[in-house]
Amino acid sequence: MIEGRDEPQDFEALRKQLEETKRQLEEERQKRKDLEGQSTPQPASEADSRGAARSGVDSSMEVAPINEADVTLRRLVQRIAMILQAEKIAIMFYDREKGELIGIPPAYGIDNEHLGIFRIRATHGISGQVFREGEPAIFHDTSADSRTKEDPFGLLHVQNGITVPLVIEKRDEENRVIDRTTIGVLHAFNKRHGEDFNEEDVRLLERMARNVGSIIANLQMYREVLEEREELAQTFESLTAGLILVSPDGRLSQMNASARAIFDAPADSIGKNYRDVLKNEEVEKIFLANQRGEETPKTEIHVSVHSYDRIYEVQSAQVKNEEGRGLGIVAIFNDVTDMKNIDKMKSSFVAMASHELRTPLTAIKGFSSTLLEGLDEDMYGKEDQREFLGIVVQECDRLRRLIDDLLNTSRIEAGESLKPNYSRFDLLPLLEKSVMVQQQASNRHKVSLDVQGPLPATIVGDQDKLDQILTNLLNNAIKYSPNGGDVIVHAKVEGDYLLVGVEDQGLGIPKDHLSRVFEKFHRVNNEDNRKIYGTGLGLFLVKHLVEKVHMGEIWAESEVGKGSTFLFRIPLELDIEKAKASND
Ligand code: ADP
Repeated sequence: MIEGRDEPQDFEALRKQLEETKRQLEEERQKRKDLEGQSTPQPASEADSRGAARSGVDSSMEVAPINEADVTLRRLVQRIAMILQAEKIAIMFYDREKGELIGIPPAYGIDNEHLGIFRIRATHGISGQVFREGEPAIFHDTSADSRTKEDPFGLLHVQNGITVPLVIEKRDEENRVIDRTTIGVLHAFNKRHGEDFNEEDVRLLERMARNVGSIIANLQMYREVLEEREELAQTFESLTAGLILVSPDGRLSQMNASARAIFDAPADSIGKNYRDVLKNEEVEKIFLANQRGEETPKTEIHVSVHSYDRIYEVQSAQVKNEEGRGLGIVAIFNDVTDMKNIDKMKSSFVAMASHELRTPLTAIKGFSSTLLEGLDEDMYGKEDQREFLGIVVQECDRLRRLIDDLLNTSRIEAGESLKPNYSRFDLLPLLEKSVMVQQQASNRHKVSLDVQGPLPATIVGDQDKLDQILTNLLNNAIKYSPNGGDVIVHAKVEGDYLLVGVEDQGLGIPKDHLSRVFEKFHRVNNEDNRKIYGTGLGLFLVKHLVEKVHMGEIWAESEVGKGSTFLFRIPLELDIEKAKASND
């Protein structure tokens, strides 16, 4: 009892204070119960929709919203200050990584700025001692108390106070404590009216600390659940497959980034009716069947966004709870457009290849049997014979080229190189020869060479393969300019590289095919192109010869109806050792 006090009055005040404390404790206990009891289902709360807007993911998770618990904690801290008649209350949390006790909100009578620098190593001061030993401490005069010398109490003008450990307890179903962890300390500073704290206050604060601990434990649990939920949402978000969840009343409750891209859906689609967002009748049909509880097989659907048609394989099912009640629909969308295209291309390749094989064979057989029939009667003169045999040889070459293309493609596919044969050779004669040969092949086209600036006399590379590259590009330029026109080979030096462009005034290539024409079997399949035969292998091989054999780059520029330019860049002085290594 403190000196000079009127005892009966003091006693009455204390009794009142105790009663008030009891009442508040009961209130807190009830609050805690409520908090814990919130794991029963409740209507989608504000927190849910907030979460949904943030991550594009809805969840029916039922946990106390974090603000609610924060408010409870803040109120509790205020109440502690009131009950203990303390000017300031501070919670210090142990930061394992830093090894420090750090002031965290909510506090009472301390502004955030001061709270932010209120910290101490867990090995120091009275804070550290209480934290380590788990026993409360009371101090009556910080200026004279050696235990509080290291605490940053000067910062908060602390004269006296109580420090108790902050413990969280994990309990099992029967409410037995199965784990206790000291997570920090709770301080009450400066008893009001110039008075001092006593042992009764210590016990009070200890009891209150238990409540603080349990609220923090709840908060932590909530944060962990939130983090888990966030992780799950991130996983969904980053799936390459499109994922959609639809609630029983037909609203989108989840739609990941891929799904949003597939259906070109705005980011705020969650909560809207799926019909309005997906705008796809095929999907609607599947979902309606699912809603009726029917099982739907894997189905292919077509989605057209920004005039691009893509094909998706849909797998969907109704999600049911244990009692068999429908909770909604889950659907996964996989892009199978490329797979489908390859299938289509492969079959058209077989058709093309057979045609390409049959055409020269027909010619060879035709001309050789004509010669054979005429042999006895000397029906054909030397000129005719030369012409016929010339055609036979030409067609044989064509056959061989096709077979080489097929063989080379399968070699590349098997990861084998095309056996480069590097040397130093004359550049200009090679360019001139390719242009001349192609000019002879067509009289409807004007094939020419345009050299800009000086070219080096020689370069290092594989001469035959460079010839093959040029021949192929020139061949295409002529083939895909059915109405004739200019075909120009541009050549110039660009730094350490030779830049070559083969320009035509032909059909051109649609934008979305520009990079894909280099893929195996890829052909532009429109009215004009369909009549022109080919296998779709030429550019695939050319790309390999430029990139792998010559360590260069190749690309195409084009405008439909105006013409195309195929450009490639190869080093003037190829590093043969490096090139060989990259070919292995
Ligand atoms: P192929 O000519 O045997 O079909 P390529 O691999 O050489 O195979 O060419 C692939 C596709 O690229 C062609 O089918 C054609 O659609 C397109 N293409 C290639 N070169 C040109 C060009 N110069 N002009 C227009 N289209 C071209």
